[in-house]
Amino acid sequence: MQMKIMGQKELHKEVRDAKFCTGCGACVNLCPYHACYHDEVVMLHACDLKEGGCYAFCPRTPTDLEALKKRLFDPKDLVPEIGAVKGFYITRSADPAIRAGAQHGGTATTLLTLALQEGIIDTAVVADEGAALLPEGAMVQDPKAIKRRGKSKFVVSPNLAEFNRLAKEGGKKIGMVVTPCQALALAKMREKPLKTYADRIDQLKLVIGLFCGWALSWRNLTALLRKKIALEEIEGMDIPPSKYHLLQLYTKRGEIDISLDEVNSSVRGACWYCPDLTAEFSDISVGSARLPEGWEVAKEWNQVIVRTSRGEQLLNLARKKGLLEFREVPEGNLEKLKTASLGKKKTAVKNLKLRSRDPKNLFYLDPEDPVLGPLASGL
Ligand SMILES: Cc1cc2nc3c(=O)[nH]c(=O)nc-3n(C[C@H](O)[C@H](O)[C@H](O)COP(=O)(O)OP(=O)(O)OC[C@H]3O[C@@H](n4cnc5c(N)ncnc54)[C@H](O)[C@@H]3O)c2cc1C
Ligand code: SF4
Ligand code: SF4
Repeated sequence: MQMKIMGQKELHKEVRDAKFCTGCGACVNLCPYHACYHDEVVMLHACDLKEGGCYAFCPRTPTDLEALKKRLFDPKDLVPEIGAVKGFYITRSADPAIRAGAQHGGTATTLLTLALQEGIIDTAVVADEGAALLPEGAMVQDPKAIKRRGKSKFVVSPNLAEFNRLAKEGGKKIGMVVTPCQALALAKMREKPLKTYADRIDQLKLVIGLFCGWALSWRNLTALLRKKIALEEIEGMDIPPSKYHLLQLYTKRGEIDISLDEVNSSVRGACWYCPDLTAEFSDISVGSARLPEGWEVAKEWNQVIVRTSRGEQLLNLARKKGLLEFREVPEGNLEKLKTASLGKKKTAVKNLKLRSRDPKNLFYLDPEDPVLGPLASGL
């Protein structure tokens, strides 16, 4: 597949009009022409640049994922199904106050807080809960303020728009919490394909990636939830392992379980074409745990993949300082995660092939990719 850099016109044709846009925010705040509107990105003005950062960084323009992985990670750590693995752990925050405000074990909050305390970063970008469950990227510089931003927002948060805004100012050491599509966009920025933005990405010092099965469309989700309860009464939500087939809504009146049959039509369309479950382009990836005691215990813990030396040093520091608790990884957990990750890749490839009706045309995915290519011809 030919890798190319093009401009806004092609970005809109190949990504926005094709409904592949993930809402990541990577094309916002590079220029004045793109803006976030709800969980979408809108074009305010046409631009005739032949090569733009918007196209170059977008996670849904053609990318040689294998070459990118080999350049950014130690090739001997690469595992075909889930990307680079230096270590695989089950952890949670040792601080009950962090755990109480976190989605699962509070590992993401703990690591980000530590990175700020140690000066590894001086600025973090996280997802804030905006009005009516619409997340927004937020800059945090006070380590104590990170724990107020815990919990997953299942609508895309355009954290990369905030990254672009901060990186343009310069002089920062930035840590990001991101979904897999956002981690890929940051990895594409690290390639420095365009001189104009080349120095900005050097300010990126840490990427904490979240596992992500899918995100929900803000409009559809809020329409669905309004039928159940007033949005102001919602305190959080979660998706337990697939056998439960549920979205759990935590509200001021107790828990409401919604079948995924009802939720599926609210999944963001672009997520059905996404091949990354575990945020393969992060320093550390964090997701929910799987434990023999079942979901009630497992949801208090995280599964963690350490991918880079930078991630390894941070996790080791958290262990040394007693900030994270570790428990033994149950036998078979890594294999199960690999199977789940491969399952998401298969779905993405199958859905792309259904659209193109040609195994050699996977739009932004490379049919020659050593992991995805064989899936395309086998399906
Ligand atoms: C859309 C989405 C889908 C997910 N799907 C899965 C899944 O299928 N399987 C799985 O194991 N885990 C999934 N997760 C990850 C999981 O929900 C937890 O985020 C993860 O286990 C970390 O838990 P924690 O307790 O360490 O997080 P916390 O300590 O609570 O920290 C979470 C951090 O993530 C940030 N954040 C919240 N929402 C977003 C967002 N939308 N975009 C970027 N940053 C955000 C918060 O600001 C906070 O800094 C998903 C998360 C999201 C946002
Ligand atoms: S960079 Fe992100 S927000 Fe912009 S078009 Fe691509 S996927 Fe959508
Ligand atoms: S499923 Fe993929 S495209 Fe959708 S939010 Fe998650 S990482 Fe982004």
